[in-house]
Amino acid sequence: MKVGILGAGQLARMIALAGYPIGLEFIFLDPSEDSCANRLGEHLHGAYNDPRLLAQLAERADVVTYEFENVPAEVAEFLSARTQVHPAPKALAVAQDRLIEKAFFRSIDIPTAPYAPVNSLADLEAAIIPIGLPAILKSCTMGYDGKGQSLIRSTDDLAAAWDALAGAPAVLEGFVPFNREVSIIAARNVSGEVVFYPLSENVHRGGILRVATSREGDPLQAKAEAYISRLMEALEYVGVLALELFDVDGDLIANEFAPRVHNSGHWTTEGAETSQFENHLRAILNLPLGATSAVNKTAMINFIGGLPKDEALLAIPNAHLHLYDKAPRKGRKVAHATVRANTSAELEALISQVSTLADQVDDS
Ligand code: AMP
Repeated sequence: MKVGILGAGQLARMIALAGYPIGLEFIFLDPSEDSCANRLGEHLHGAYNDPRLLAQLAERADVVTYEFENVPAEVAEFLSARTQVHPAPKALAVAQDRLIEKAFFRSIDIPTAPYAPVNSLADLEAAIIPIGLPAILKSCTMGYDGKGQSLIRSTDDLAAAWDALAGAPAVLEGFVPFNREVSIIAARNVSGEVVFYPLSENVHRGGILRVATSREGDPLQAKAEAYISRLMEALEYVGVLALELFDVDGDLIANEFAPRVHNSGHWTTEGAETSQFENHLRAILNLPLGATSAVNKTAMINFIGGLPKDEALLAIPNAHLHLYDKAPRKGRKVAHATVRANTSAELEALISQVSTLADQVDDS
């Protein structure tokens, strides 16, 4: 079987690495000459919306998936008219626009921060009254890793926050005073079988994920599973789905979802019985899903902007290095490491050892 992937970045690379042991082959469509997944399959090189390349992808792949949610709707529809595409275009349409996404959460009784649409400075000035301060202004589309976002602490910040968007449609969100950020990752196959991973507890800095730690047995697991189940059913979802949540004194508030494998689930490669990448492939090929139980206590640490010193990292016996074959650039995720331990204390010590190495090269 051949799997087509739109995008050939690190997520596509990790999906392919998980697919070879179960006998799969890969074909990627990506505009970059020098992409992370280049060495792991055939490569159609060109624009994501090039109809000639899309037709080739549809013809040569048994099923098509993607590694990013900003796939244009017409591309997803072009492909789904010709081959199987998972997740379906509806999940993309909802995930691509923060306003649609928030309304969708509300429509299925998943709580969100208070929010209001903003299309002008006057809208922003009006929205701040019911929503209050602090608040975050986010562009509706194309935002990731904290990009296209401004924190508004006082009314003096309004004009600058609006100007920074350069006229893009936006959403104003109340700032959630969270105790911690968590995410739940689940997989659903074509037959409707669903599996859930243990919650990840996520630490961000500057809007970018730094550390994700598996939390098997977390008291909020059942609530998070209920929310993501509802989301998957409403979207008739197939594949791996990630839902990012704020924990506010035991209540969960949805931030956003990603219709794909997710950075907060990279610990599953060494830390779960079956990785999120393998389960994504099993789901879209309608194979039985693998067990998601944690193998041990695990965490993942991102390397941003600079590569780790391999020898220092590999000298930590319980650390596993994942390089993305990507040139270092400011603010760019170029690698991660997972660490695994028997006790929470050992895990914390490993996280701190690896984070020190990550901080040495971090330029973000
Ligand atoms: P996002 O791009 O929406 O995932 O936001 C990136 C990060 O900014 C989140 O992981 C949070 O750390 C922070 N953040 C985003 N929205 C809010 C909010 N409404 N309240 C508090 N923190 C937020």
